[in-house]
Amino acid sequence: MQKRIIPCLIICALLLASCAQPQVSEDQPTPSSEDTEPTASAPSAEDAADIETGLSETDKELYQQALALQSYVDTLGFQNLRLIDYPVTVYLDGADYVMQGDTLTKRQPPFFDHIHTTAREVEDHYEVFVPPYEEWREIVKKGANVDFTPSRHINMIWHEAFHAYQLENYVKTTSEQFEFHHAEAEKTLDDSAYRSLFITEQRLLDKAVSADGTVDLTELLNEWAVLIEQYNDLLTDAQLEAVALYELVEGSAYYFESEIHRHLEGEKKYRKEYLAPFDENHFDHTPTGRYYISGMKKLVLIERLNPNWKNGLTFSESVDSMLLKAMEG
Ligand SMILES: [Zn+2]
Repeated sequence: MQKRIIPCLIICALLLASCAQPQVSEDQPTPSSEDTEPTASAPSAEDAADIETGLSETDKELYQQALALQSYVDTLGFQNLRLIDYPVTVYLDGADYVMQGDTLTKRQPPFFDHIHTTAREVEDHYEVFVPPYEEWREIVKKGANVDFTPSRHINMIWHEAFHAYQLENYVKTTSEQFEFHHAEAEKTLDDSAYRSLFITEQRLLDKAVSADGTVDLTELLNEWAVLIEQYNDLLTDAQLEAVALYELVEGSAYYFESEIHRHLEGEKKYRKEYLAPFDENHFDHTPTGRYYISGMKKLVLIERLNPNWKNGLTFSESVDSMLLKAMEG
């Protein structure tokens, strides 16, 4: 049987780190005393690796902190999404360390032979794969000069658990199909007319997500609905399909992740790190990374217009279509 995988791989975390970069470089850090929201606790200084299992206490602790968010996740409305249902696996030195609830097992040979950030069908279940926290933190620091905080790691676990949930219940796209869609999205990278239209769309979405009482949201969204018609003339059917898939699958995972971040880090950081105006560099960052952002912002608007949108959600309708319906009321 064809295995199913959402090839998030490292893209999710790199994109996320890249998104956080402006905040790090341009904003002054907020003193922790100002934080009133619950925050993931930092790993302990004496984070000695467990001799018997090899997995660090930090990785175990962050997994437990992710698990402890279940009651909050239950309030978000994604029915039957439970982290406990999906083993969370960390690759380390040639072995997998598989956590589920209070159980930790060592698996050899490992499923992959290096670190991964993904959700994957493994035998009769779906599994979440994340890198060891400290190793990944070093990689992100070197690659993007960003501090990959403990709460980011918890976000990553939940983001991939969200994909496991999608794969298990709704998204039947195979890994080969994802590769095909990815290749189609990649063809848009050098398309300057598409780039220009996409960025125009993001500017409208940015205005809409930050709209307060002085801005006519309906007018902005009507403008958006006319604008997106132009994509039909610029992209092939296969490209339109690829964009819709990524906005739906990754946009929703990113939306979900942003809500976890909001809960852990507070409204101020959430707005800065997820609702900041679209950075044009993200268009060129990866062929699909931009759709995490566009899909997420559209879902923020859908949530605003129709808070019940998650009832009966089957991940079968495009985000654009859901937004157009939400506009109709
Ligand atoms: Zn993802």
